[in-house]
Amino acid sequence: MCGLAGEAGLFLCPGGTLEQNDRENLEQIRRNAAEWLTRRGLDALLGPEYVLMPGLCDVHVHLREPGFSRKETIRTGTLAAARGGFTTVCAMPNLDPVPDSPETLEPQLELIRRDAKIRVLPYGAITRGEQGKELSDLEGLAPLVCAFSDDGHGVQDEGLMREAMIRAKALGKLICAHCEDDALRAGGHIRESALSRQLGIPGIPPESEYRQLERDLRLAEETGCAYHACHLSAKESIGLMRQAKKAGLNVSCETAPHYLLLCLENLRDEGRFKMNPPLGDREDRDAVLEGFLDGTVDMLATDHAPHTQAEKAGGLLGSLMGVVGLEPAFPVLYTALIRTGIMPAETLAERMAFAPRRRFGLEAGEDFAVFRSGAEFKLDPEAFVSKGRATPFGGMRLHGACVLTVMEGKIVYQEERG
Ligand SMILES: [Zn+2]
Repeated sequence: MCGLAGEAGLFLCPGGTLEQNDRENLEQIRRNAAEWLTRRGLDALLGPEYVLMPGLCDVHVHLREPGFSRKETIRTGTLAAARGGFTTVCAMPNLDPVPDSPETLEPQLELIRRDAKIRVLPYGAITRGEQGKELSDLEGLAPLVCAFSDDGHGVQDEGLMREAMIRAKALGKLICAHCEDDALRAGGHIRESALSRQLGIPGIPPESEYRQLERDLRLAEETGCAYHACHLSAKESIGLMRQAKKAGLNVSCETAPHYLLLCLENLRDEGRFKMNPPLGDREDRDAVLEGFLDGTVDMLATDHAPHTQAEKAGGLLGSLMGVVGLEPAFPVLYTALIRTGIMPAETLAERMAFAPRRRFGLEAGEDFAVFRSGAEFKLDPEAFVSKGRATPFGGMRLHGACVLTVMEGKIVYQEERG
């Protein structure tokens, strides 16, 4: 088991699997953080009851603005991110307007300039209006966006996806795919299973994810495009990704805390258990976790997807898909994986800070966040600064509450002392 107590920093764990330059980064961040904290009389935060991490990075969040500010805004979403220890997030393009050209991206850029509390990098849409019919102005968008995605929808047309990959490769940009075959999804709400049949709720088979992933990996091989698969949830997907990496393809993937730690057995008929892709069975969960531990899954992303309370009040059948993740993510993973000794803390630093920035070519900075390892707390969604409240982890007793987030030497979140 990884020793978490020790000298200032706490996250360095002998026997971990960090790349040499990440190990150096980590040491550099630790030194700077120690100096920064000491200078401000906050050196108590260097004690053994705290965990110091690099500023976290989430490449998959829905900030909902412009277009859906009733669900979340750039301001509330980035405050929630800072409160979760994040200093960089990438914002998905299922907005109104959909950013499919520099002109339609501009309203979002304006809001980011005005309201963002941390770094926000927007995605550009792969197709016009995320309609899957014709490609966006990829060339015009490329200098302004972190990557391309039609998140919320799979790109159904193989020819269009091939063309997108060819052009993204020429532009040096990642294609980030929400893998979902509409014909296989067929209007389902939760994973197709004995439970879905028992509840009489239309099910979603895992094929709807992994068949499209299989197609995309073939296209990535054919085109040489750098490809990233979003929120993988099925064991078959993890197997495909492992194979593709072995074959040397330029591919990566992410998963979210709920796919790592929950499965159908945890499902309740409440909106906070409904997301897309849906929770799989126990074998899926175990395969996703195995992939996360061995590096097949490169990074953790929360797929923070807030909705209004009314939109999440319709149980499994009547609620919209999506749960919030920015505030719960670190405590949930810290409690489930680090405290239990399943994963060294430095590997979590790799999955939540270094790997996403490296893959997406994002500025690293010397950001850091401090979490309280000792005291237990109850995750209370009513206390979130996000407008969203729906999380399957609500009410759980956790460790690892964020006490301080520092970006470029400035405090972007500090816990209020009650
Ligand atoms: Zn998605």
